[in-house]
Amino acid sequence: MRAMRTLLLLLVFTSLCCFLTIRRTQARSANVPGKSSPTSRETVSSAAPTSPESGGIRESISTKNQKRYQEWKGEFLSTAIGRAQWEMYAHHPRLVLTITISDSNPEGASTGKYKWNQEGELVAATVTLGNHADQGFPTSVYYPVMNALQPFESARLIGGKVLAATKIAHEFGHVMRIAGTPEPLYRLQVQLVPVYNKIFLSNGHNVNDPRLVEMAKRMGGNPVEIWEDREYWGEANAMMFLRDRVAKEKFHCRLFGKIKQAVEEYAKDYEERFAEVAKSQGAIYTCSWK
Ligand SMILES: [Zn+2]
Repeated sequence: MRAMRTLLLLLVFTSLCCFLTIRRTQARSANVPGKSSPTSRETVSSAAPTSPESGGIRESISTKNQKRYQEWKGEFLSTAIGRAQWEMYAHHPRLVLTITISDSNPEGASTGKYKWNQEGELVAATVTLGNHADQGFPTSVYYPVMNALQPFESARLIGGKVLAATKIAHEFGHVMRIAGTPEPLYRLQVQLVPVYNKIFLSNGHNVNDPRLVEMAKRMGGNPVEIWEDREYWGEANAMMFLRDRVAKEKFHCRLFGKIKQAVEEYAKDYEERFAEVAKSQGAIYTCSWK
């Protein structure tokens, strides 16, 4: 029952994108094509200059977004896990990870533009952060980690920079996961998810339709399951970042208690991956997960 409800919910999303947060304010005129202010773009790379065939991080950030981006990145790099993951991609032998900021989906973030080489290795991915990624908390149903920050931000125990850095960690989680996904499977999912959704909408929402059962088998789950699995990997990485970031904060067990509550309520099937983070070395090891 829940699967069907969430499947219906998901149909409003672009099937394979990351999260959106709905701004509480009215549509902003700045988003009207032609009305947005021109922005110059500059690319700053943290990695040493590399040949076109080698990997690294390419930061494509407009001048107007540089200050906020550097603050978010600084927050991400203030943790051991953030620095380790950044270094891994900055010196990656093949993968070019582009990071950019967009005015569309201002409080959200997404990862895409994946490319694989002939050996089947991921060689390109782009993380796009909303220009207001330091605001907006996605739903606890799919985002138990990011959502859990909300009361702590309201109480001014953490700032927007931590939220933005948590979103960076979530997106890095996607990159790590997709690097382990075979390209043919990813392509099959991109191809079949819209077909699945179309049939689902026309067959009276019957997930037991043999055509849907067959499709789900081929692509490794129905669209909800694929979506959930992907998002919860992002969230598990976001949790790793927070594990380090709030280690010295008095509220760290309260924060993880809130994450645990949301995971138990909405992501029971995926609890193990969050429990693994909770059991790994760090301050939250001492909080009770079980
Ligand atoms: Zn995501």
